[in-house]
Amino acid sequence: MGKFEDKVVIITGAAGGIGKVTAKKLAEQGAKLALVDLKLEAVQEVISEMRLNDSNALALQANVANEDEVKAYVDTTVNKFGKIDGFFNNAGIEGITANVEDYPTETFELVLNINVKGVFFGLKYVVPVMKKQGYGSIVNTASGAGLIGSPGFVGYNSSKHAVIGMTKVVALEVAPHNVRVNALAPGVINTRMMRQIEKNTVPEDAEGAKQAFSAAVPMGRYGEAEEVANVALFLLSDDASYVTQSIYTVDGGQMSQ
Ligand code: NAD
Repeated sequence: MGKFEDKVVIITGAAGGIGKVTAKKLAEQGAKLALVDLKLEAVQEVISEMRLNDSNALALQANVANEDEVKAYVDTTVNKFGKIDGFFNNAGIEGITANVEDYPTETFELVLNINVKGVFFGLKYVVPVMKKQGYGSIVNTASGAGLIGSPGFVGYNSSKHAVIGMTKVVALEVAPHNVRVNALAPGVINTRMMRQIEKNTVPEDAEGAKQAFSAAVPMGRYGEAEEVANVALFLLSDDASYVTQSIYTVDGGQMSQ
């Protein structure tokens, strides 16, 4: 029997690098999954790749920055599966790389809308369900960028600092109800997002940017999505039953230098 047998887990950003691998690992452990992303077809592909079906998986299209769409994905999950054991509040975007004076206001607003409001709406609608149940585990995907400053990333870093703030507040609000809220703070992880950041940072030499980002990591390399998913699974599972309001760096030692 898998650790997540009959557990229901919602994942946002489920078509992306970290979300997809986490979905796969949860499915292997028996979880029932509600997979949410802007890209419906990509989520449907994840479901067929994992050989899931209508009885154990839902493909849900939603923009996490849209409150009605968030309410809808939460309601649809509860109507279908009757509960929510775990919530991986993970969707996010990188924005662009530019110093503050050149950072377009619309990009700043877009990044905050998705990375902050998207996480907030998820918490707002999942928390009442878990409080009523008297159990649940929420994992917000923040970033190492939520712990330190990175020049050129005023939108992204601000948004991820906010995710850590929300994690701490909501963890305290729901702790008496046996609901846990933690955050992941990944470093540089080998997904589409880092490919885009490399291009945004040094358009003429994305490979050079990758080498420079890797050199800044004490372990000397990017992390893989699976290495983040492993920590997400721990936090979502009952193995972490006394862990709440914690920020887990998954970064090859980068943030704690
Ligand atoms: P990714 O780009 O591969 O995946 C992100 C997914 O989120 C995509 O499938 C995308 O379609 C979805 N998404 C984007 N905007 C959305 C919206 N408005 N509504 C619904 N879905 C939306 O990137 P990833 O690396 O898997 O990132 C996952 C999370 O991890 C993000 O929050 C990201 O900020 C965070 N993170 C990533 C890294 C890294 O180095 N890759 C490091 C630290 C934190």
